[in-house]
Amino acid sequence: MWLWSRSPWGRRATPAARGDGGREEGGTVDDEFDVVVVGAGPAGSAAALAARRAGARVLLLDRADFPRDKACGDGIAAHALDVLDELGVPDAVAGYPPLPALRLVGPGGGAVARRLPRPAYTVPRTVFDARLVAAAVAAGAQLRRHTVRRVAQRADRVVLDGDVAARVVVGADGAGSVVRRALGHPVNPDRHLALAIRGYAPALPGPPEQLIVTSGARWPAYAWSFPIGDGRANVGYGEVLRSEPLTRAHLLDRLAALLPDTDPGTVEGLRAHHLPLSTHRPPPGRGRVLLAGDALSLVNPFTGEGIFYALLSGLLAGTAAAGSPDRAARRYADTLRRRLGRHLRHSSVAAWLARRRRVVDAAVRAARRDDRVYHSIVELGLGDGRLDVRTLAMIGIGLPARDEPPGR
Ligand SMILES: Cc1cc2nc3c(=O)[nH]c(=O)nc-3n(C[C@H](O)[C@H](O)[C@H](O)COP(=O)(O)OP(=O)(O)OC[C@H]3O[C@@H](n4cnc5c(N)ncnc54)[C@H](O)[C@@H]3O)c2cc1C
Repeated sequence: MWLWSRSPWGRRATPAARGDGGREEGGTVDDEFDVVVVGAGPAGSAAALAARRAGARVLLLDRADFPRDKACGDGIAAHALDVLDELGVPDAVAGYPPLPALRLVGPGGGAVARRLPRPAYTVPRTVFDARLVAAAVAAGAQLRRHTVRRVAQRADRVVLDGDVAARVVVGADGAGSVVRRALGHPVNPDRHLALAIRGYAPALPGPPEQLIVTSGARWPAYAWSFPIGDGRANVGYGEVLRSEPLTRAHLLDRLAALLPDTDPGTVEGLRAHHLPLSTHRPPPGRGRVLLAGDALSLVNPFTGEGIFYALLSGLLAGTAAAGSPDRAARRYADTLRRRLGRHLRHSSVAAWLARRRRVVDAAVRAARRDDRVYHSIVELGLGDGRLDVRTLAMIGIGLPARDEPPGR
């Protein structure tokens, strides 16, 4: 398609097919780059942009052709736009109307609806991700279609599939990351991994707002409806995994139960995917291999938001990768800790507290009473906010002794 350079992988037998284990064993590889980024989602495009801005020769690999779909709520928080501004991409949400408000329904049924401190957007990932990839290519990154299967760390380089070498590799290949597994880290265990399904349906009537309906049954779980601005909304449902497999039929039943005003017969384009929650993360890198975005389990455990964290970690990983290769992992770990460390600690504690439904119901009540509590909760769920003492106290004031029985 329009974005791809001709891929040598597309024209040659693979190392496995040649039966020689890859040309690299003989000491030569076809291509050498300063930085190779695996995965061209938000984390990968941000990494490629940041590394290019630091002057590195960058190869961006993805197994898919762009534009491509990605199962997502398509909700873009204002914080994500801050990172994109920093990367010199000011127009990623152009043409999509701002969503000024967020309505949050607690597991007990109470609700708060207020203006967001800054508006959010709903931009289908087919559009959003292709814009970011185009920006990375315009900045000078080479783009190739290729599915990475093998990652070999050598003393002075990293070799992918025996054919391409990098001084540093950024693994931005999402929830099922091959690069992460090559570093010895399996996918997140149950309770730290969610599964969600999304589709597109006619938008609900009324003023545009992000709607999040948390679920008393199957807690922690919630459904959403995010209007796009073209008469449709992205609708979906997700829940945290607990030792039993979740069927598509179950996810759709819960979606229908929590969004009764959306006719299930009108929902199109259904697609499900895992969300690795940030309550369980591998180390951000080892040697010359770094992980960013979902590959590093950076999904917010409250909201399932991951795009802001993917962009930010991608920016930091790309910047670190473009410097001295031997210190890339250390530099990345330091900048990531400085930028997100406290937020990640606070959101893990908050997620642990929120395992009790009554805490979330009390937070909804406190947010209805008090705009500052609402803002703190939004910052914690959509950005890099922290749990502050005042918010905890306001929630504590309205905390009942036990959970209400689940209604929905
Ligand atoms: C149903 C659902 C709803 C969500 N809703 C929201 C929301 O509203 N807002 C929000 O902020 N977040 C949301 N998220 C989370 C968000 O989608 C992710 O956090 C985000 O996509 C992470 O970006 P990424 O770049 O790390 O990974 P991805 O976007 O998954 O990109 C990874 C890329 O790597 C490529 N790839 C994978 N393996 C290989 C390989 N071996 N070789 C080459 N390429 C490879 C893939 O093709 C893909 O393009 C949602 C997630 C789900 C599942």
